[in-house]
Amino acid sequence: MSTKPQVLIAGAGIGGLTAAASLLNAGYTVKVFEAAPELGEVGAGIQNSANAVKVLYHLGLKEALDKVVVRPKAYNFRVHSTGEVIQSMPLGESHEQRFGAPYVQIHRADIHSILVDKVRELDPNCIELNAQATGFEEDENGVTLLLADGRRISGDVLVGADGIKSNIRKQIHGDQPANYTGQVAWRALIPVENLPENFLEANVDVWCGPGNHAVIYYLRGGEVLNFVGLVAHEGWTEEGWTIKCPWEELKADYEGWHPTIQTIIDAADKDQCYRWALNNRAALPFWSTKRVTLLGDSAHPTLPYLAQGAVMAIEDSCVLTRCLDQCDNIGDALDLYQRNRIERTTRIVNESTANAELFQHSSEDELKAAFAARNIDKERTHWLYSYDALNVELV
Ligand SMILES: Cc1cc2nc3c(=O)[nH]c(=O)nc-3n(C[C@H](O)[C@H](O)[C@H](O)COP(=O)(O)OP(=O)(O)OC[C@H]3O[C@@H](n4cnc5c(N)ncnc54)[C@H](O)[C@@H]3O)c2cc1C
Repeated sequence: MSTKPQVLIAGAGIGGLTAAASLLNAGYTVKVFEAAPELGEVGAGIQNSANAVKVLYHLGLKEALDKVVVRPKAYNFRVHSTGEVIQSMPLGESHEQRFGAPYVQIHRADIHSILVDKVRELDPNCIELNAQATGFEEDENGVTLLLADGRRISGDVLVGADGIKSNIRKQIHGDQPANYTGQVAWRALIPVENLPENFLEANVDVWCGPGNHAVIYYLRGGEVLNFVGLVAHEGWTEEGWTIKCPWEELKADYEGWHPTIQTIIDAADKDQCYRWALNNRAALPFWSTKRVTLLGDSAHPTLPYLAQGAVMAIEDSCVLTRCLDQCDNIGDALDLYQRNRIERTTRIVNESTANAELFQHSSEDELKAAFAARNIDKERTHWLYSYDALNVELV
């Protein structure tokens, strides 16, 4: 395009901020509108594979990330009762050599603040708080973002990065009902000083049990252990990330599991155990109108069973920037963007859902048989981690 369009972004989560940094870096004028009164993220971990990390490095974030990430050596799948490793996928140097960037574990608040700093370095006034997007109007001349306080903000393109309950998606697609998966997720962060010395190696450990699995890894240079427990649960549909639940219920959910899991749960702060419902939504057939598109969880919310939700948002941001750069008009750019992203993100969402079955067989024999039929390292190498948003041909 001869003059770079002005981009409005609804939502300052990992997706909205990465998109803002990427677009500002490429010379666009960007304004981000965040509903919350202050910027921040919940206390929890996130894994980022090379397909996201190379985009973050391209934004100049390597130094900041290196200070706070943990680089796991391997991804281990274990039997819940014995701890036996039934399949292992190398990470560490192997991942970096094969895919051009490391696999990292990071506290959500750390990646969020690194992105906020980057965006503010590029434009100190880019992010506006207390700015809840309620919808939009568009015509051939531009798009207007409507805010809950009555303000109307004009721009050329609008990106809905307003998460799983997106108002922008609602306007494009109507109110899509969420389907409760029958699973809830527990989260707890355990300071290492509460655990035995040299308790666990720096790996991602996925403990697989009947109707239930748990994911465990270190954060903040090994100072904190992140525990996420994925448990079958009837009648709980609350999606919020900040709902505290009784520690006794967490303990009961993991009764009979290996002593390692008991040690972790026993060391958790009893007043800091959170639980939320995991919902699924049908994949969207399209994301864009002439001047409005979606990105991250607003476009493709996913179960966390491939650890790719934020990774997809980061990839989206990079590809969207390239599409706007490559096309002569906004409509073509948004078409190119969704055409190049829908198939991949739908596959990730579907494979994430399918992993619930793989990780949660009712008996150890079934679990072992299911893993024996799969080579997870080979599968993910083939299509998942090898994706390069910076260079993939856009067609
Ligand atoms: C248990 C669990 C573990 C996970 N682990 C991983 C992992 O290891 N790796 C990974 O890649 N992903 C993981 N994810 C997924 C990841 O957290 C999400 O995919 C990611 O946070 C999506 O980012 P987003 O910016 O699209 O949305 P969000 O993070 O939801 O951000 C949306 C932002 O928009 C704001 N907002 C909402 N509504 C409005 C509005 N109307 N107007 C303005 N602003 C608004 C919100 O306040 C928020 O700041 C996990 C998810 C869960 C549940």
